Amino acid sequence: MKRIGVLTSGGDAPGMNAAIRAVVRKAIYHGLEVYGIYQGYQGLISGHIKKMEIGSVGDIIHRGGTILHSARCPEFQSADGQKKGLKQLIEHGIEGVVVIGGDGSYRGAKALTDLGYPCIGVPGTIDNDIVGTEFTIGFDTALNTVIDAVDKIRDTASSHERTFIVEVMGRSAGDLALWAGLAAGAETIVIPEEPIDMEAMKVRLLKGLERGKKHSIIIVAEGVMSGSEFAEKVTEITGIDTRVSVLGHMQRGGSPTAADRMLASRLGAKAVELLLAGKGGRAVGVECNELIDYDITEATSLPHKLDLDIYRLSKELSI
Ligand code: ADP
Repeated sequence: MKRIGVLTSGGDAPGMNAAIRAVVRKAIYHGLEVYGIYQGYQGLISGHIKKMEIGSVGDIIHRGGTILHSARCPEFQSADGQKKGLKQLIEHGIEGVVVIGGDGSYRGAKALTDLGYPCIGVPGTIDNDIVGTEFTIGFDTALNTVIDAVDKIRDTASSHERTFIVEVMGRSAGDLALWAGLAAGAETIVIPEEPIDMEAMKVRLLKGLERGKKHSIIIVAEGVMSGSEFAEKVTEITGIDTRVSVLGHMQRGGSPTAADRMLASRLGAKAVELLLAGKGGRAVGVECNELIDYDITEATSLPHKLDLDIYRLSKELSI
C-alpha cells in the first residue's frame, strides 16, 4: 500500500482532529502518502480530496471539531452513491481509507468494504454508542462538558431551591446522560435503555423535599424525550415547579480532554497499522485499555449495550 485516505463523517466529536493527525503522521512515518477527503462521504462523491503533509495536521491536536469537516450525505446510502465514491478513490490511486465517525459512518465504511475496498473504522462520536469498543473518541470530553454545565446549574438550582431538568445529547444511547448523571450526582437519570418508574421518582423527589433537600437535578437523555416534555410530566405528577436546561451543541465542541487525545492518537495510528498489514473491513477500539480490532460488521449489525451496572450504581447513590 502506497497511498491512503482519511475522512471524518457524521456528527463531529472532540478528538477527531487528534485522530486525523495520528493517521497522517503515522502513515507518513511509514512512507505512505495521505489524502484528506473533505466533508465526509459528500466530499468523497464529489472528489473534494487533497494531499496532506506533516504540516497539514500541525497545531490541531488540541482543537475540537474536524479540519476535514463533516457532513451527512444521504446519497452515499445508495448503491449509486457508493459506486461514485469508489470511483473517486480509484481515480486518486487511494488504496485504503480510514473513516472516523459514528455508527452511520461505519455503515458507509461497511458498504465500501462490501465492494471489496479496504476501510478501517475509527470510533468518533460523543454518544459512545459504537458496538465493540468501550469508549469512543469525544465521549470523555462531552462528559466533562456536561458535568461542568450541571455543576453550574446545581449552583443556581440550590440558590433558588428548584428542580432542574437537564436534557443531554446521545441520540438513541443513554451513555452520556448516565455517566454524566452519576459523575455530577444527579438525583434521577432517565435513559432510553431503562424504563423510568415515574411513581418511584415522585416518591424520591417529595421525600427529598421533606427532608429539607434544596434542589434536585434530573438528567434526561434526548433519546427518551425532550427536557420540556419530561418537565411537564414531572410537574403533572408531583406538582413541583421545574426549570429546563437543554445543553445542545455545546456538548460537541471544545478542546479534547487528555483521555480523548490519547484515545484518538492510539486508535488513529492503529488504523494505519491495519492498512499497512493489508487488512480492511475492520473497526478499531479499546477494551480494558488495550487496543483491539474487529470485523466492522460486528459494529454495524449488533445493538449497542450500555453498562447497566453503572445505572444500578447511580440508583444506589442517589437515594
Ligand atoms: P454518525 O456517523 O455520527 O452516526 P450519521 O448516522 O449521520 O452519523 O451517518 C453519517 C453518514 O454516513 C451519512 O450521512 C451517510 O453518508 C453515511 N451512512 C449512513 N448510513 C449509511 C448506510 N446504511 N450506507 C452507506 N452510508 C451510510
